[in-house]
Amino acid sequence: MKIRHSFNRVWWRRFIFLTFLIGVTTASPATGIASKPPVIVVNSGYRLLIDSEKGTIVAFRSTLGPSSELLIPGHADLPMFKIEFLDDHSQFKTVTSLDAKHVTVSRSRNEDGLSIEIEYNDIAQLPLDVQVRIRCPFQEPLTYWNLVLNNRTTFWVGHIQFPVIEVPFDSRREKHNSHILWSFADGALAGPVESSLAGRLDYDSPETWRANNYPGQWASTQLMAYYDDSGGLYIACDDPKGLPKFLNPLMAMDGVVMGLGHYPATRGPSNTKLPYNVVLGTFLGDWYVAAEIYRNWAAQQPFCATKLTQRKDYPNWLNDSPVGISFPMRGQADWDPPAAVNPEYTPLTNALPYLNKLASALASPLMPIIFNWEYGGPWVQPESFPPVGGEAPFREFMVAAKGQGWHPVLYGDGLRWITWQKNTDYDGMPYFKAHGGESAIARNWDGSLMENIWEWRKNYAVCVGTDRGRQMILDMTRGMAQLGPDVVQQFDQGPGPMVCYATDHGHPPVPGPWMTEAFNQLIRSDTDVAKSINPGVALSCEGAPPETYLQDFQVWDAREQTCPLFSFLYHEYLNGFEGFYTNRLNDEALRASVARALVTGYMMNLTLRDKGLVHYDWDQPWTKAIPDQAGILDWSKTANHFRVGPARDYLVYGRMLRPWTVSGVSQRDFGWGKEPSVMTATWRAPDGREGVVLANYADLRESPRVELEGRGNKELILYNGAGKEQRRVELPTVVDLEMEPRSVGLIELR
Ligand SMILES: [Zn+2]
Repeated sequence: MKIRHSFNRVWWRRFIFLTFLIGVTTASPATGIASKPPVIVVNSGYRLLIDSEKGTIVAFRSTLGPSSELLIPGHADLPMFKIEFLDDHSQFKTVTSLDAKHVTVSRSRNEDGLSIEIEYNDIAQLPLDVQVRIRCPFQEPLTYWNLVLNNRTTFWVGHIQFPVIEVPFDSRREKHNSHILWSFADGALAGPVESSLAGRLDYDSPETWRANNYPGQWASTQLMAYYDDSGGLYIACDDPKGLPKFLNPLMAMDGVVMGLGHYPATRGPSNTKLPYNVVLGTFLGDWYVAAEIYRNWAAQQPFCATKLTQRKDYPNWLNDSPVGISFPMRGQADWDPPAAVNPEYTPLTNALPYLNKLASALASPLMPIIFNWEYGGPWVQPESFPPVGGEAPFREFMVAAKGQGWHPVLYGDGLRWITWQKNTDYDGMPYFKAHGGESAIARNWDGSLMENIWEWRKNYAVCVGTDRGRQMILDMTRGMAQLGPDVVQQFDQGPGPMVCYATDHGHPPVPGPWMTEAFNQLIRSDTDVAKSINPGVALSCEGAPPETYLQDFQVWDAREQTCPLFSFLYHEYLNGFEGFYTNRLNDEALRASVARALVTGYMMNLTLRDKGLVHYDWDQPWTKAIPDQAGILDWSKTANHFRVGPARDYLVYGRMLRPWTVSGVSQRDFGWGKEPSVMTATWRAPDGREGVVLANYADLRESPRVELEGRGNKELILYNGAGKEQRRVELPTVVDLEMEPRSVGLIELR
């Protein structure tokens, strides 16, 4: 397990990018004003300008609030699209709309609105034409962009970037404070938009685009947004099928490219039409407003057919909010050699007395999460069996744990075939060779095996288009299920397919829809295998599951940060637990992570160190100070009882709403930016009641003022610590609370 950070500082990439960009700049014609006026579409939400000679985007302006240009100056000089082909000699060749010999731009009108059609002919002196159509309905602030490629070469399409969109850095002089939202893990939000974002975002380089990140390689939705107080740019795709895409902001010299990559995997001669639209629009407000637009679309899609309350595959025990307790059988973290066996947890039955103590302190059912159980070393698959400490005590533990009403969890390692692990100095190459490993592995475009070399382990990436690769995953799941857990998390490190450029795997030699088809099949076979052994088993994954797999998982191992995008969109379909790497630096930050999890709707989880003691977080060595045990256990118990008590209809079954304003609370900064010491969120229960949940994790009393929105006379029920009061209120109004240290509250309106 290890979250693959998109916050990648690869300096050589930047160097290559700079070289590339300088080359392009000097080769381009000098910027000038087009002699023909641009084609303009204006409605109440936006003003869109298309260059009538180049067929490029001149400007896109939000007119919902104070008029605000959303794109960089000189945007007309950027191409409308870039297409990378793989030619007959397996060489990449890139063309752009600026290479077209002829460009024709026209505008037409129909009942619903306007359309702009752009034809690009004889691109780069090749038999290539592209038609772009932008549909602009009168009544909405959204526009729908589609593209048809007429490819009369024999080249494969590697990927298409469309449309090319770049937003500017903030102007310091004008004190802009813009933000960018994207769908990394549970949700990512960055701002102000300036060159320092290079710490979190990759540079735009040709290689970046050769691998999808959606679905499931850490991007779980198709939404991005860019906004400030005066207006915002909404960016999404309306694909209900989870086809591979690249959807991520990327650094450029003068702004941020809102990267949109498509992978049709077609070969010429052929016509390729994008099977969904890119949706660009404007909005006024913060990221929640953009997410609401997206949620309105998503709720109509097949993957949102069944809410949690109607799901038949959903184990009831998950609704009782078991607390996850993770502990390693060997070593202390992912990376700490030599990985000595921990006698507290090995054989596994030794863990039972510690877990009993915790269950009683938390007065909650548990989800014991067993880490570092694999024969070869932590996260080593497929040479994972028999488990550390032997199979018999492992099974004995599972029976005893279930007898206590607990629900043990085992993790596999996603699409990884591990060949070396630092903790045990495991050498997996003999096993790899003896078990036909090579035929399971994805290929880079140069034909080499796709290898990931980390500081603490080496692995190859499995191609989901190969029988051997799929079989390895299914065998791994079967082996885990046979050990008797109630939750199997095979899809660690994101549930989604990875690219493969092999020419002999029976799939196209470029990324494309075949990946989603193969992964859909794999995920369903994987479920069948697990359920054939334990019909009640729950399937989990690391990071938010791609939206198209909402109904395929029963729980998920979140990567809680400060932007709850995924929960806002999809909590009422699937609950997750807060997960690991949650910035738990000290006792207060540890309690903050529980408060954040609570108000976001997550279940809670804690990690143990030696002697059954709660540690700050997973993957931290045991040399740190020991947290205040009574403090964190008591706070977790308070939060968890509240989650399944007064707040159950909101935090288990509810839908998150745009937050109502809460003020008058002190702020803390543990390294993730300023956060209030009273975490809050606004929710709607399935029956329509609305409520604000509050969690004061601080050691001080806090006096939050909550602004209640809406209209009319309502009954207000206030839970504050152990107290409960009820009264009638006329909305809108404000409520002032006095919250005790380490207390929770709910303001409910009915
Ligand atoms: Zn392959």
